Amino acid sequence: MADLLQVQVAVDAPQHSGLTGPLDYSSEHPLASGSLVRVPLGRRDVAGLVWPAAQPGLAPDLRPASNAQTLALRAVQQVVRSLPPLSPRWCELVSFAAAYYQRSVGEVALSVLPPELRKLDDAQLQRRIDRLRKGLAKDALSEDGLPGPREVPQPSAEQAQALGELGTLMATHTSPVVLLHGATGSGKTEVYLRVAEQVLAAGRQVLVLVPEINLTPQLEARFAERFGAAPVPRRIVSLHSGLTPAQRLRHWLAAHLGLADLVLGTRLAVFASLPRLGLIVVDEEHDPSYKQQEGARYSARDLAVYRGKLEQATVLLGSATPSLESWQRAEEGRYTRLAMPARIGGGALPQMRLVDMNQVPRGSARQALSPQLVAALQQRLARGEQSLVFLNRRGYAPVLHCGACGWKSACPHCSAWRVFHKLDRSLRCHHCGFTQAVPRACPDCGNTDIAPIGRGTERLEEQLSLMLPGARVARIDADSTRLKGSLQAQLGAVHAGEVDVLVGTQMIAKGHDFRRITLVAAVNPDSALFSSDFRAPERLFALLMQAAGRGGREAEQAARSEMWVQTWHPQHPLYAALRRHDFAAFAASQLKEREMAGLPPYSHLALLRAEAASAAAARDFLQAASQIAAAQPGSEDVAFYPPVPASVARVANVERMQMLIESPSRIALHRVLARWLPQLHALRSGRRGAEQRILRWAVDVDPLAI
Ligand code: ADP
Ligand code: ZN
Ligand code: ZN
Repeated sequence: MADLLQVQVAVDAPQHSGLTGPLDYSSEHPLASGSLVRVPLGRRDVAGLVWPAAQPGLAPDLRPASNAQTLALRAVQQVVRSLPPLSPRWCELVSFAAAYYQRSVGEVALSVLPPELRKLDDAQLQRRIDRLRKGLAKDALSEDGLPGPREVPQPSAEQAQALGELGTLMATHTSPVVLLHGATGSGKTEVYLRVAEQVLAAGRQVLVLVPEINLTPQLEARFAERFGAAPVPRRIVSLHSGLTPAQRLRHWLAAHLGLADLVLGTRLAVFASLPRLGLIVVDEEHDPSYKQQEGARYSARDLAVYRGKLEQATVLLGSATPSLESWQRAEEGRYTRLAMPARIGGGALPQMRLVDMNQVPRGSARQALSPQLVAALQQRLARGEQSLVFLNRRGYAPVLHCGACGWKSACPHCSAWRVFHKLDRSLRCHHCGFTQAVPRACPDCGNTDIAPIGRGTERLEEQLSLMLPGARVARIDADSTRLKGSLQAQLGAVHAGEVDVLVGTQMIAKGHDFRRITLVAAVNPDSALFSSDFRAPERLFALLMQAAGRGGREAEQAARSEMWVQTWHPQHPLYAALRRHDFAAFAASQLKEREMAGLPPYSHLALLRAEAASAAAARDFLQAASQIAAAQPGSEDVAFYPPVPASVARVANVERMQMLIESPSRIALHRVLARWLPQLHALRSGRRGAEQRILRWAVDVDPLAI
């Protein structure tokens, strides 16, 4: 019998099994690392990837082992030979992500592959691949469905300058990271397109990341228009969670096989397999959507930067309001910053107007819309221009209230109010989904006069329709866009000028290239000023700058475009900087505060979350965890804060507590986490009794929301 070889295979073992690395299996034949295989795990057969060995220098996949140990290993069942192996660099990216975000390698590796890969056998996959190769060849000939090439604009002076510097950097550095700080409407996309063109011409692939699925069609169209029908047509595929499993497999394979030249996608696309990757663009790099909020809580932006180094690719981070992390790195010279402060066509940024709500007569203040703002909206209406009114709260009102007995529409399962949705007369919990019809009378005292308090987008839409007779008011938020295609249809109506006043949540404040809006208003943005989350001001500033950026994008209208902010705190320094569109000043003041308070980017954080049936059990678990950590060597450089309830403490009858872990040294933090987490698996399984039982725990490295 031939000697058996020992191979390491990354499999998706349950996180709480505490297995973090690849597992050992035996194989009769040498297997290239990155090969897709099926192996036995417990009583199941699961998909796995042959993993390169951690020790450098040792040929990973074929360690000969004639000893009894290897004989005792379970054997690889099947090798999916139709799939060319994933590259060592791809495996390294996954290994890094798993180690950094404290998850198992197999979990990360398999969760970022298209789910279909796990299901299909070798023959089925081979057929898909054959079909794909033929199909793509046909597409390239017919090219139907592609918009004809629009005229390629001459770069503006600023674009030309940025492109020149980028060209120099790319020629002299193997993997530059560039922060493109370009005002809203400064034409960042044109810079992406032209850099992409260069990289494609050099025979390499391009990855473009966008924060939200909603923004992919518009950008995809622009890339398709530029490259799809070019003299050498380029193949563009998208990767996001809105694809069907079959589409996702096809697009992923096209990238992996090198058939697609350009991949455009949301955060999960950072893990796309791209054998010739030469450029990663992260559009709106500051956007919180780049952080995954479950499983391995990775930041696609941060991984993009890491991947750029691995693949010797250029990383281009674009934003009008960069994250303070990226801004700080540019200040330190670790990233190259390129600035494009002017808008295309020379148009001005919208003029900022703050409405002091303290000065507004009481009756109208309660209407949420100041008379000044209503007059400004009427003026736009009379001129046939569009307005955008922005409120980050959906539904009709955040709570219903009985004036007689004080009853409020609390959710029985969560520490939150249920939101009143007037359109279907429901009370809905936005945390657990619990929904009931609105009661006719107060459930506690029978009073029939229960009233909404506060307002969401539904109510704002209603009020605007009343105050602006004849105006075509439309609302875009998560409720109005549930049906597939409805968002695109609604946006289409706005672009076509069929809407006078657009009401919505942050969904409409970002990214869209609206051409006819001359007034943007934020109705009630103050709450973020006093949030306990230290990142709230940064997010608010970015959101308001982004929202403002939807106005006056047509140069001839820019001079009369305005951004209105209704506030009870007009003196707040955040608004003072906003008024001047002064991101640099805002960033400088925030960074100074963060430095004094020892917050990121001057320190590094992790959040340990625990969920249990009772708050006491969750707290006990975190306290026990903290004691274990304190006993570890190296923990002196790391601070463990006391456990506190999560911002919404109870969701679906589960109590949620969290504990912040902080260190000035990233290395110290990671060293402690790596030793500590395996002990937490043991701690969890050691707890007995229904009351004590911890349901779940998870660590969030570099958490975005505290
Ligand atoms: P940003 O992403 O920076 O907010 P966009 O890339 O959406 O800005 O560009 C704003 C508008 O300017 C788009 O409609 C785009 O087609 C147009 N544009 C960009 N560059 C040029 C140029 N050099 N000449 C003319 N129009 C341009
Ligand atoms: Zn009552
Ligand atoms: Zn609830």
